Amino acid sequence: MVHYNGTSGTGSQISAYYHDTYEEQAATRVVAVGVLDGVPWVAIEHCLFHPQGGGQPADRGWVDDHAIVPVRDRDSGLIVAVSAQASDEDPSPVLPPFEEGQRVKARIDLEARMRHAALHTAGHLVEAACRAQGWALAGSNHFPGQARIEFTAPESDVRLQSPEGREEATEAVRATVADAVARDLAVTWELDDAGRRIVHLDGLHAAPCGGTHVHSLGDLPGITVPTLKVKKSRIRVSYDAAHRER
Ligand SMILES: [Zn+2]
Repeated sequence: MVHYNGTSGTGSQISAYYHDTYEEQAATRVVAVGVLDGVPWVAIEHCLFHPQGGGQPADRGWVDDHAIVPVRDRDSGLIVAVSAQASDEDPSPVLPPFEEGQRVKARIDLEARMRHAALHTAGHLVEAACRAQGWALAGSNHFPGQARIEFTAPESDVRLQSPEGREEATEAVRATVADAVARDLAVTWELDDAGRRIVHLDGLHAAPCGGTHVHSLGDLPGITVPTLKVKKSRIRVSYDAAHRER
């Protein structure tokens, strides 16, 4: 899985989604305003909004009643919210003029958040199950409808050379995934000595990650893993996952 390294916040902004995947709304305040590529933005203190990154799509959300999309501002490191309708060609349906210190209400599309967190966490699990087969990670994507993880195909793994063998290898991956879900392994995180956020699936897997995750793998019943494909020395493992009803 290609991860980016998250810390718990930049300056006066708190990445609230690190602490609670399911926090839907919050009363908070504006910590900064600015312009990014000609488009006005607002940054809030208690930041519910996960920007696109780590193979995971951006949240959808609202600041007061204005639909926004969060993006990371490289200069400041802040997660900033731009109007969901603004574009390079037409930056004007823009946000109203927010001011620093202004009290605002923030809200996310919780259904989309849960879908993204389910797919993203399932990605960690599928990755772990495939690493257990002896395959080295090459890339990943957790977007709805495209979720897949790719590995370098070792020539020594003869299973990958026949349809029956590929089915057998996929079945081994499915068995590891099903076992971890049945055991309801906890999903936790900690900051390491370098300040990186390390995400753990109990003792099965650990990786630096700034994404959003479910509480435990029992939240992910019915993960599907179609028979893997091998192309140009790459193993492609597609998967799908949905969050259980809450
Ligand atoms: Zn993650």
